[in-house]
Amino acid sequence: MYNDPRSHGLWEKTAPKPPATSSLEGDSTVDVVVVGGGFTGLSTALHLAERGIRVTVLEGKEIGFGGAGRNVGLINGGMWVMPKELPDVLGPVYGERLLSLLGNAPFLVRELIEKHQIECELEKNGTLHCAVGDKGLAEIRERCAQWAARGAPVRLLDAEETAQRVGSSAYSGALLDERAGTLQPLAYVRGLASAAIKAGATIHTSSPVIDYEQDGEGWRVKTASGSVRADWVVVATEAYSDGPWKIIREEQVYLPYFNAATKPLGDNLRKTILPNREGCWDTNEILSSFRMDKAGRLVFGSVGALRNTGATIHPAWAKRALKRLFPQLGDVEFECEWYGQIGMTDDSVPRFHKFAKNVVGFCGYNGRGIAPGTVFGKTLAAHVAGDVAEDALPLPVTSAKARSFRALREAYYEAGAQIAHFAGERG
Ligand SMILES: Cc1cc2nc3c(=O)[nH]c(=O)nc-3n(C[C@H](O)[C@H](O)[C@H](O)COP(=O)(O)OP(=O)(O)OC[C@H]3O[C@@H](n4cnc5c(N)ncnc54)[C@H](O)[C@@H]3O)c2cc1C
Repeated sequence: MYNDPRSHGLWEKTAPKPPATSSLEGDSTVDVVVVGGGFTGLSTALHLAERGIRVTVLEGKEIGFGGAGRNVGLINGGMWVMPKELPDVLGPVYGERLLSLLGNAPFLVRELIEKHQIECELEKNGTLHCAVGDKGLAEIRERCAQWAARGAPVRLLDAEETAQRVGSSAYSGALLDERAGTLQPLAYVRGLASAAIKAGATIHTSSPVIDYEQDGEGWRVKTASGSVRADWVVVATEAYSDGPWKIIREEQVYLPYFNAATKPLGDNLRKTILPNREGCWDTNEILSSFRMDKAGRLVFGSVGALRNTGATIHPAWAKRALKRLFPQLGDVEFECEWYGQIGMTDDSVPRFHKFAKNVVGFCGYNGRGIAPGTVFGKTLAAHVAGDVAEDALPLPVTSAKARSFRALREAYYEAGAQIAHFAGERG
């Protein structure tokens, strides 16, 4: 995208083409304007259009330009926050609602992929949260017990079964979550866009929203070359937020995260490394993730931005880390390297914001946006349609607040990752 091989990497290389779209020209009127063409915006648009509601999506760059087209592709159930802790953060009512919605969110992703026949390399064999040492094992044991108590299909694997499934003896155990899985994220978001268009939505790309103003009972949303009038505005700009909703950016601390993909592995290696194609990440503080794509490329990622010195330090570390994790791989070369920014909130919980009357949106996904974005989009459509009242939403209304010491924290994340990766896995 935009001739930057480090923005969407492998996903750009292997995704089916996006549907044809054009930029907004002139003035029009619909019922709802959605700002942002990622999972949240396009799921909102799809579900609105299916209800017969007239909807226009305005995407500043291209479909999936934000996190949607850059991520690891792990379809997670739930959040980072432990299930039992969520009611402490949100109170019992919202805590329970959010847990139940996000715990089941991967099933909506599967349902949409099947219903709209989206070709996006869906794998339904679950994810493995891999434990590092005794501390990691204690953490996943607790997480497993808490989800199991809620009836979720999760299971604790011992070190031996983990080694068999992962193809590495580096872990003391793993939490298998059968709700979860993997997909090709850019293919999924492009598929959502095609489904939304088929259902009657209009999508304009290269159409950054620069302003919006009250127009009678509704809103006029403006780009440089046109405007759309609507009763409702859904803001789905998340960690790539630009234009009038800069406060979303200011509320989040960006965590840089990169991925690198090997060439397709040979048959023998594929029999030992992730033969069931689970998506994985570990319990390290600077975590790593890994998964297979459909062609058998191993996609490995961790914290860090591939710019300036990070463009050398992080991939060099990733090669050493892969060799340590999977000695059978030997020396690897990467076919693609790419990165993006993850929006983190101070309590690791997403937000529902009401920027003005009928101007609403979810954000703050903390690196878990595939399933949450999809299910929040469906929820927003139901809210706009009048089927879900504001006080029945999965999160309370909160006002967006700029986070203190944001720039410092962001610099700290990147510097910490570079220091760890410069030194890590040597010798
Ligand atoms: C490297 C990386 C790895 C990740 N790994 C995972 C993972 O494995 N699993 C998982 O579930 N999540 C993961 N995430 C998080 C996930 O990608 C995001 O949470 C998700 O993309 C959020 O979807 P969204 O639609 O809300 O926002 P986005 O996908 O970020 O889309 C927002 C869109 O809004 C557009 N926009 C912004 N401002 C304007 C404006 N003024 N006018 C018009 N358009 C605008 C942007 O161009 C962008 O396309 C990862 C993220 C990154 C970056």
